[in-house]
Amino acid sequence: MSSTDPNAWAVHKFGGSSVADADCFARVADIIEQQPRGRVAVVLSACKGVTDGLLGLVQLAEQQDERWVHQIAALRERHAVIARALLPAADATAWLTQFDADRDDIAAILKGVRGKQPADGSVRDRISGYGEIWSTRLFHRYLAHRGVRRNLQWVDARQCLQVQWGSLGPAVQWDASRASLRALLAPDVATLVITGYIAATPSGVQTTLGRNGSDFSASIFGALLDAAEIHIWTDVDGVLSADPRRVPDAQVITSLSYNEAMELAYFGAKVIHPQTMAPAVAQNIPIWIRNTFAPQKRGTLIGAVTNKEQPVKGITSIENVALINLEGAGMIGVPGTAHRLFGALREAEISVILISQGSSEHSICCAIPGAQAQAAHDVVQRAFERELAEGQIQDVQLTRDLAILAVVGDGMAGMPGVAGKVFQALGAANINVRAIAQGASERNISVVIDGAQTTRALRATHAGFYLSPHTLSIGVIGPGTVGKVLLDQLASQQARLAREFNIDLRVRGILRSKQMKLAEPSIDLSRWREASAEGAEPADLERFIDHVHAGFLPHTVLIDCSANESVARRYADWLAAGIHIITPNKKANSAELSYYDRLRDARRSSGASYLYETTVGAGLPVVQTLRDLRETGDEIRSIEGIFSGTLAYLFNIYDGSTPFSAIVRDAKSRGYTEPDPRDDLSGMDVARKLIILGREMGLRLEMADVQVESLVPASLVGGSSEEFLAQLPQYDAQMQARFVAARDRGNVLRYVGRVSADGKATVGLVELESHHAFANIALTDNIVRYQTARYCNNPLIVQGPGAGPEVTAGGVFADLLRLCTFLGARL
Ligand code: ADP
Ligand code: ASP
Ligand code: MG
Repeated sequence: MSSTDPNAWAVHKFGGSSVADADCFARVADIIEQQPRGRVAVVLSACKGVTDGLLGLVQLAEQQDERWVHQIAALRERHAVIARALLPAADATAWLTQFDADRDDIAAILKGVRGKQPADGSVRDRISGYGEIWSTRLFHRYLAHRGVRRNLQWVDARQCLQVQWGSLGPAVQWDASRASLRALLAPDVATLVITGYIAATPSGVQTTLGRNGSDFSASIFGALLDAAEIHIWTDVDGVLSADPRRVPDAQVITSLSYNEAMELAYFGAKVIHPQTMAPAVAQNIPIWIRNTFAPQKRGTLIGAVTNKEQPVKGITSIENVALINLEGAGMIGVPGTAHRLFGALREAEISVILISQGSSEHSICCAIPGAQAQAAHDVVQRAFERELAEGQIQDVQLTRDLAILAVVGDGMAGMPGVAGKVFQALGAANINVRAIAQGASERNISVVIDGAQTTRALRATHAGFYLSPHTLSIGVIGPGTVGKVLLDQLASQQARLAREFNIDLRVRGILRSKQMKLAEPSIDLSRWREASAEGAEPADLERFIDHVHAGFLPHTVLIDCSANESVARRYADWLAAGIHIITPNKKANSAELSYYDRLRDARRSSGASYLYETTVGAGLPVVQTLRDLRETGDEIRSIEGIFSGTLAYLFNIYDGSTPFSAIVRDAKSRGYTEPDPRDDLSGMDVARKLIILGREMGLRLEMADVQVESLVPASLVGGSSEEFLAQLPQYDAQMQARFVAARDRGNVLRYVGRVSADGKATVGLVELESHHAFANIALTDNIVRYQTARYCNNPLIVQGPGAGPEVTAGGVFADLLRLCTFLGARL
């Protein structure tokens, strides 16, 4: 990092956050004293918050609010605490005497402001620049007091840095500045302490380089001193791939080209001021961005070359943007429209951030700062008054509260698919793109989006380029038998999924019937039982959804492991809101067709995924198989199967030797039936599964269309389940007779559901030949047979355990990972 020339200058700039208090000043001095040979120029910002404080004084004075008097006293006290902590008493007093002289000057200026509204720019410039004077004077004394660096000199940039403000910002007057600096420097100077941010105009009036201008100061002084390197010290480890406050997984970028850094800075990466680059580029001075609070870290190197291996370096955003859209057939082929539009905006001093025009020339739109939205709208409307009146231009539309998201990187040039990835990531996160611009340099793809979605958009695109993990915000509803096992399975795989596939599964809420647990950033799955009880609150579905569907996370998924009808009735709204749903709950898909259609429509319009493989056959690939067949053009003729583990078990065991009622009682005691066995025996559960498959085949089936043979005798439908079990033996003879009749024909009894392409759907007890596939399944297995155009003579069969918490939870988990791949993860 050091130059070979022992006399070369290195410029070190410390931002406000690096000089926030006495400890910070000590840290900065340590860093300076540890620099290798060579001369060092230290450029300092004002102490953190001081520039804002000074501008606040002006504002109060403008409003004739006397409180500025107290606020300036507070600023004095804040600095006095630092000075007393760092300097010997006499030094601190001398420093405070200088401060008080400045304070009196400020008071005099502010008194002049009173009554005039608002203060002119020069007043603001003069006052806001004091922060840098105070911090550098203090640091200069402190460094002298420590005595390590010799030949120190304090430099007031107003005496040597000349800038001329124009429409493109401050233009450095290089020759004049160079000459003044040369004249100012002592011949043997080795350490400079220079005020950041401030400068003077050619006529000697104090000015600034604009907010955050100390970075610019650093590179200007770097150029004036022919420095070998510039270090910008701040409070993060370097330039990050996104603003860490918005994207917590942002990574340090090892190296950036000047152009990339400029683009990132222009598009909102506050870590460096956009104008910083120009002086450094002109002299090819490398710029390091480093962390004052972790000086051992390498930081980011900004230089002439880029790291081509990483096409996308960073993603940034500009907020509070408005869009002006000019639309009209009259613009097609008419030269000069754009010129007039931008001319009008320029005259009103409105800067244009982004421009986009379709090749049809039917519309042209541009993004402008939100604060100037109304002014821009008015001026454009005036400029096209005639065309608007004559109808050549239909409308000048203004849309507010937008943001620009910019994806930046040199390597994007000539690399296909980068834009595609941006839109895929935004689309999957359900973010609408209002306008797009890509510079011919292909260094930047910018999209205009809804301002409220900025954080989500940043996170989604950041993850889309593998700059951070694919994060899913997960809410689990009803952790019953299946939900519990699912949470255990997630806990056991979470770390591996993060490590191997960059998937970040965050269970942020668990909702039970009475209580719920909401967590930020997520529930610790390794101890979810305890964690979900700690600080649990009364269940509230609305709050639960609000929390899990947090705007800042790109994707939300609700996993409904309840069998609750009222929860299922909410799916359509949730899907419409872009929330993904995964569920083994059959209630939604077997509801009336009008609701089923709403579910499909909601899913289609929002792009949210709705996955329910486990509604039929638990973890067996029943729904997916059917979908694959249909989507590849196969024609489904019929689907039949044993869809109930309980009924499969009952008829696998029943061999006529033990009464049927005794088998039911035994199965219940083993936990193979629902608490009330009638729920299984009624066939309704099978009918629901059949409806789901029938609809998946494209049939418009309602529950009433399914002919269901219930195994619950009509006289036993009412009453408690105990009464039912007590009375069931009365019907044993009837069942026995059916069994014997079948056996005499060499057949067996099985409870089968069947749906065919003509819309016929039946559920009931049938006689099958003893070698039939359905007659030879184990215990509670499910079996599904697809008869299709392709699988015609020899049907496709899916068979295996079709119930039980382990396999059902596994199926739900598989749906979750399928969702991750839809959202762009590579498994
Ligand atoms: P200083 O006081 O050192 O000038 P700033 O607050 O001006 O510091 O800039 C540093 C801050 O910029 C960081 O704390 C970070 O929150 C923010 N920031 C925004 N975007 C980025 C980015 N892409 N990389 C690093 N920091 C960023
Ligand atoms: N102190 C100035 C500001 O807050 C300049 C800077 O810190 O870069 O804008
Ligand atoms: Mg800054």
